[in-house]
Amino acid sequence: MVTKSLHKRESDLANSNRQLEILSNGIFQNGELPTFKAKIAETNQFPLKAKKLEILQINVGYMCNQVCEHCHVDAGPDRKEIMTRETMQQCLVVIKNTGAHTLDLTGGAPEMNPDFRWFVEEAAKAGIKDFIVRSNLTIIRANKKYYDLPEFFKKHNVHVVSSMPHWTRGKTDKQRGDGVFDKSIKALQELNAIGYGMPNSGLKLDLVYNPSGAFLPGDQMSMEKDFKKALLEDFNIQFHNLFAITNLPISRFLDYLIASENYEDYMYSLVEAYNPAAVSNVMCTNTLSVSWDGYLYDCDFNQMLELPVNSKSKHISEFNEDLLEGRKIVISQHCYGCTAGAGSSCQGVVA
Ligand code: SF4
Ligand code: SF4
Repeated sequence: MVTKSLHKRESDLANSNRQLEILSNGIFQNGELPTFKAKIAETNQFPLKAKKLEILQINVGYMCNQVCEHCHVDAGPDRKEIMTRETMQQCLVVIKNTGAHTLDLTGGAPEMNPDFRWFVEEAAKAGIKDFIVRSNLTIIRANKKYYDLPEFFKKHNVHVVSSMPHWTRGKTDKQRGDGVFDKSIKALQELNAIGYGMPNSGLKLDLVYNPSGAFLPGDQMSMEKDFKKALLEDFNIQFHNLFAITNLPISRFLDYLIASENYEDYMYSLVEAYNPAAVSNVMCTNTLSVSWDGYLYDCDFNQMLELPVNSKSKHISEFNEDLLEGRKIVISQHCYGCTAGAGSSCQGVVA
């Protein structure tokens, strides 16, 4: 089980250039597999361009109480990158003025940012239609100071989106750490108890599934049925939707693929499962990602690869929605993860 981030371990892969080198060399350099650019050009979809902004996703820091094996953020207790209140204030100016209908707070564990509650309170006042917080669930049980998070979320009508890789203890703990399953179940029961995830409840609770190994997720609808049945029968837990997400070959998942000698096979699976119909709806076409230090990226994955937006508007302090619309999306081979099968995004399938 992983216990430290790649950064703390001073791994080669903590360096985003090294990750990009791996993704560009080998099977993609020698022509065994087509690059993502060549693949989308086959259907005249290159360059991929941003449409109207709909979702603003803000990463408030890479600190997390967990160190999951697959984490694309390389998050963990040892990561100290945290959004300051000053940068949050710059974000609030944008939140109040943007035409985006969804605000999506992520991390790390976003709740660990010391200004998290202040930020949620201020952002909620902007009255944005869908206000998502991505919670790993265990944070709710990690320390007394987080025990009231369900009530806090309810008070601000936050839409909770939580990771839950499986309905069994073994598979969940293998990917996310010992004890994660039991704490997640407890947290879900607490959220249910105040109305989250209940049928017809306006308090939205969605779960996120991602595979625990070098394989692609199954059909989202049938997995949702299986999750709902098992969680209800075993723990009396209810939730609204399940999002099935493909693991992208970056950061700790790339490290896992290389260490388990699955990298090439996984890239082959992604390319074989390429679905041209998913390209026009990949999340970078309607989403913008803001990093803990305020820089703008096409998505959270590009943020971790340190591939900034291709626009003159590069920082939240100089945010210009008109300039950002129509920008050319920065792509590399990791993008195959978003176009495999039914496609994948933070909101689940896209095609
Ligand atoms: S809970 Fe999420 S952010 Fe934290 S280590 Fe796991 S995957 Fe990464
Ligand atoms: S990885 Fe990011 S840039 Fe690439 S297709 Fe997916 S959302 Fe777009």
